[in-house]
Amino acid sequence: MRFDLITIFPEFFAGPLNYGIVRRAQETGLVEANVQDLRAFTKDRHRTVDDRPFGGGEGMVLKPEPLFEAVESLLGFSVGEASKPGVTDSKTAIVLMSAAGKLFRQETARRYAQLERIIFICGRYEGVDERVAKHLATEEISIGDFVLSGGELPAMMIVDAVTRLLPGALGNEASSQNESFSGEAHSHAGRESRDENGVLLDFPHYTRPAEYRGWGVPGVLIGGNHAEVAKWRRAAALEKTRRNRPDLV
Ligand code: SAH
Repeated sequence: MRFDLITIFPEFFAGPLNYGIVRRAQETGLVEANVQDLRAFTKDRHRTVDDRPFGGGEGMVLKPEPLFEAVESLLGFSVGEASKPGVTDSKTAIVLMSAAGKLFRQETARRYAQLERIIFICGRYEGVDERVAKHLATEEISIGDFVLSGGELPAMMIVDAVTRLLPGALGNEASSQNESFSGEAHSHAGRESRDENGVLLDFPHYTRPAEYRGWGVPGVLIGGNHAEVAKWRRAAALEKTRRNRPDLV
């Protein structure tokens, strides 16, 4: 999997790309991450990436030219409107980060994990010239119903969510199959299909000490009866999902 991140703040990614699973995935060659400085694709002396909005209003908007040039230089060919459907084979996505985009979900991460390449366009200021969404990006994606000041954190969240789904990225292969939103969180508990109760969140986890400040661990987890543990986890996951995310059940 190759990730390209187009940004006006390339140094931003130095931290997030260098820890844990994402770092290891790069070290083992599972993932390649390239950060592209948008200003490198400007042609004027001031390396201008933004301009004032047509129609007036507050703030600045990222100009289309450097973004088109950046993506085209990564792809190695030009993007014309007519050829947009052929911009990419189905193995590449050009993802515009946008608070006004479609919501990113675990199922989006699963779909992206099948790709060979994702090019992220990180917006800033008031956002990005709409022609980027219409004629360059293959998808416009939001990571949640709130507004951030840039697309870098959102893009990084997607890089993380997708990387940990790649086979071999996690130390324990099973662990991405039995977690929140996997649709299989309930499989611990022997549930047969996700339709029955929707998607469950993860069950609560406990580790040592068995008693901490007077708060004990549920006895069934210490008892060693695997069937009972599975039953408890299923019920606890369901209870937690109902409490925290009634919309999922
Ligand atoms: N005026 C825009 C917000 C611009 S925020 C609006 O009201 O929708 C600046 C940039 O931050 C955006 O271009 C986008 O790239 C990024 N961004 C902000 N919130 C985001 C979110 N929830 N998901 C993805 N990207 C986001």
